[in-house]
Amino acid sequence: MQNALDRLTHLLGKLPGLGPRSARRVVLHLLKKKESLFLPLIEAMHDTAAMVKTCSHCGNLSVMDPCEICTDARRDGAVLCVVEDVADLWALERSHVFRGRYHVLGGTLSALDGIRPEDLRLASLLQRVACENVQEVILALGATLEGQTTAHYIAEKLQAEGIAITRLAHGLPVGGELDYMDDGTLKAAFQARK
Ligand SMILES: [Zn+2]
Repeated sequence: MQNALDRLTHLLGKLPGLGPRSARRVVLHLLKKKESLFLPLIEAMHDTAAMVKTCSHCGNLSVMDPCEICTDARRDGAVLCVVEDVADLWALERSHVFRGRYHVLGGTLSALDGIRPEDLRLASLLQRVACENVQEVILALGATLEGQTTAHYIAEKLQAEGIAITRLAHGLPVGGELDYMDDGTLKAAFQARK
């Protein structure tokens, strides 16, 4: 069996933003802070892995299914914001710019990576629009080629529904993802949607 220390370092090195060198630094830091950080972190990771699931309605991650956003009666069910990933939903929630509901696609269409409509949460989106009295769909997808292709595809599919289909105002960084935008920029892009 692999040395426990090497195994932990190897696994941490697979995390986004961490390479082998920073993984070693993290491991050392954790070992030095065993009681105050390492053990609580293990517990938090264990609980999160055991309890957090994907909302079967919108695709959000939550300990509840349906999630707290889907079940919150104060949110405006007539406006549905379509995002690529849960990180985008979290970014929008942090900015407090939106009080409707979400639909997480789980990716974008991509001929290059072989991601087809049936690989995304698209059928359930169309079904929600048809059944939930949705008046506006906001396509809050990235300014990447894939994001725009996906937005175009959805807009076409929803054309016959007779609802407003809006997109975030441009000025989004090209190839930028929502999660990397600061709250002020996000708010402005959201409010100036068209
Ligand atoms: Zn939900």
